[in-house]
This record gives sequence, C-alpha cells and structure tokens, in this order.
Amino acid sequence: MLFGDYMLIKNSLDEMKKREISLKVIKSIIDKKGKNSLCDLTGLSGGFLATQNDLNLLETYIGPAIFEEELQIVGKEHLGGEKIFAVNRTSSGILATILAIVKKNTKVIHFLPEFPAHPSIPRSCKLVGAKYSEFDNIDDFKNNFSEDTSLVVITGSTMDHKILEMNDFKAVISIAKNNNIPVLVDDASGARLRTAIYSQDKAIDLGADLVVTSTDKLMMGPRGGLMAGRSELIDKIKTKAHQFGLEAQPPSILAMVKGLEEYDGNNLRESLSKKEKLVLLVDNNFSMFEGTPTGIMVSEKSLEKEVLLNNEINPNISSKDLCFLWAMILLKQENIITIPAVSMPGASPTIRFDLAANDAKNLNINFLFDKINSSFKTLLSVSKDENLARKVLFNIE
Ligand SMILES: *Cc1c(COP(=O)(O)O)cnc(C)c1O
Repeated sequence: MLFGDYMLIKNSLDEMKKREISLKVIKSIIDKKGKNSLCDLTGLSGGFLATQNDLNLLETYIGPAIFEEELQIVGKEHLGGEKIFAVNRTSSGILATILAIVKKNTKVIHFLPEFPAHPSIPRSCKLVGAKYSEFDNIDDFKNNFSEDTSLVVITGSTMDHKILEMNDFKAVISIAKNNNIPVLVDDASGARLRTAIYSQDKAIDLGADLVVTSTDKLMMGPRGGLMAGRSELIDKIKTKAHQFGLEAQPPSILAMVKGLEEYDGNNLRESLSKKEKLVLLVDNNFSMFEGTPTGIMVSEKSLEKEVLLNNEINPNISSKDLCFLWAMILLKQENIITIPAVSMPGASPTIRFDLAANDAKNLNINFLFDKINSSFKTLLSVSKDENLARKVLFNIE
C-alpha cells in the first residue's frame, strides 16, 4: 500500500493502533451507557446466534461433527457448489486458494468493477511470487490475458459495494473457461448484495469454480469466510489451509450455520426505502454523498472536497486522515460505528452508513441525519488543527 500521502495515519501500524483505540472507546461507551447506546452501521456487525444447547454441544466432539454437516447443507443453499469449506476470514480463503493453486512466476489476473481491490489478493500473490495484474475494463482484461495465467479472480462487489455488471461477469468467466483457467470469485458482500438487491445469479451458477464470501457482511454471522466450489479444488485448498491454520474453528462454524439459517434477502430489500429518505436529506445539504446498494457513502476524495468548501485543511492532514477522523468523531461524539474506525490495515477509508445493518432496523432517519450533520461540523473544526486531530485519533477521550 502507498502511505506516502497520509500524514497522521502513516502506515499499517498506525492503522492497527487506531483500531485499538476505537475498540477501547467502544468498550467505554458500553460501560457508561450500555450496548444499546451504540449504533453499528458498518453492515458487518455480524453476530453469534447460538442457543445454550448449541453451546453445550460445542464442548464435545459431537458438536463440531454436527455443525460441519449442517454447514454443507446451508452453505450450498447460499452459494451453490459441490463442497463447502469454512475459513477464518475471506482473506484467509483467498490466501489458501492462491497458496494451493498458483505457482511461482505464473499470472493471476483480477477483474473488478472499480478499484481498489481488496489488499489480500495482491498480497497473497506477492507471497507466492506470482505476477499480479488487475483490470476494471473488459477490453484491457481481454488484451492482457495470457496463457501462463494460473488463476482468474473476479470481485463481485467491491469493499465500497460497487457491483460487477452481469455482462462483464459472464465475459470474464467465458475467457477463463476457454483457456481452462480456474475462476475464484471474491463475493465478500456480493453473495448477498448481488443476489438480493440486484437479482443477479450466484457466482457458482455463473460458472465460477470457486467463491468466497464474508459471513459477517450483510448477514448475522461471525467474522469469517465461507467458500464453495468444485470438490477437487476445495480439497486442495482445504489441505493447504490446515497446514497454515487458516480454517474456521468450530465456534465460528456453529455461528456461520446459525447466521446462514437466519439470512433472508427480504431484510436487505427492506433497507431500500430508508436509504431513499436518507439520500434526499443528505443531498439537500451536502454534495459529498453517493448511494450504495443499501445505504450512503462518502469517498476519501469527496470528503476532502466538502471540507474544503467550508474551510482550509491543515497541510499535515491527508484525505485518508479526514476519513479516519470523521469515523472517530462519529464514534466518540455520536456513538455511531463506521468501518474506518474499526477496520483492519489496508481496508477502504470510505465512510459508509449501511441501512441494512441490524442496528438500522429501529433507527429514525431524521435522527441519523442530525448526527451526520453535527459530526461533520466537528470534523470541520478538527481538520484545521493538527494537534486536536491527533488527539481525536490517538486518545481515548
Ligand atoms: C471484506 C472484503 C474482503 C475481506 O474480508 P475479511 O473477512 O476481512 O478477510 C475481501 N474482499 C472484499 C471485496 C471485501 O469486501
């Protein structure tokens, strides 16, 4: 990742520290005001649905055997495919696949609807010494395709919830098929967004050999990855994953099964009317917001522009810093959790308010708008003052 242009948060270590601070802030809000005072709009709050009976089973050897079998059933219903494999995170599934399938000096080509790609894909390629390239334009993809490719990766829906067009999806798969190259679809959020909101087909039904999805994105599951695909490939990936400890553990598998059982695409579709109301409100007052499939978002560049419309920004505060700052203000001042406050190093700095999140179910949209407004006002004063900005990011108070 390029960190040259950010100033307060300079590298992965700073990002990790920022996350630690956020978690402490969250803990202190819960201690002082209770869990209900927090509003998690990340859309990846996940959950751990389990009955006491499930938990008792978990303590034995029988439990994992039962959950594993159930996972095969509900997993195939959700993703299709011949075999299901649960991994620790989507990133772990991507790494395990690349370790298992991609040889040194061969090519991995990634097609996605919009940059940036999730960092786990280029990082895993680097680890095995593969040549990685990525395209968001189908002609460039075709022109750069070559036979020494060992894996084609497709992102179905990006970290910012940009969805791949059906035509491009099919075109990429057919090129890979014609050349006998396996296709992995990174459908972290797409397995639900693409299908429930855009009525697209499952990745496997579109001809992908493998798919991986995040079980905490737009569903009530744990942080984890669920893979599906051709048995022969899944077996190879599973073998590799076990060698490096990338597989999901029984408690996660239990929570995945419960989350998948609970999942209902209708709940996602119900967020759409709330989204429309919020879009009207924010667009009347700001120019920085864009719609997402289930909410609104502000990109790094749009946020910077909007702040500059109002005042100057301290030269030591970058556009990425602004995102982290706003996320931290939203958390500390308004008790709203957005991804940049709690994200892992390298994740997208885009601020997203996801109305498909569980905490959005009973949320008054006018109330949310007021909080967005007042936190942005605070951001305007913080962005002028480097010392204050540092405090906001790195102090718990
Ligand atoms: C979230 C996401 C990932 C990574 O998921 P983790 O569970 O954090 O590893 C990978 N790709 C895309 C497109 C994502 O949105």
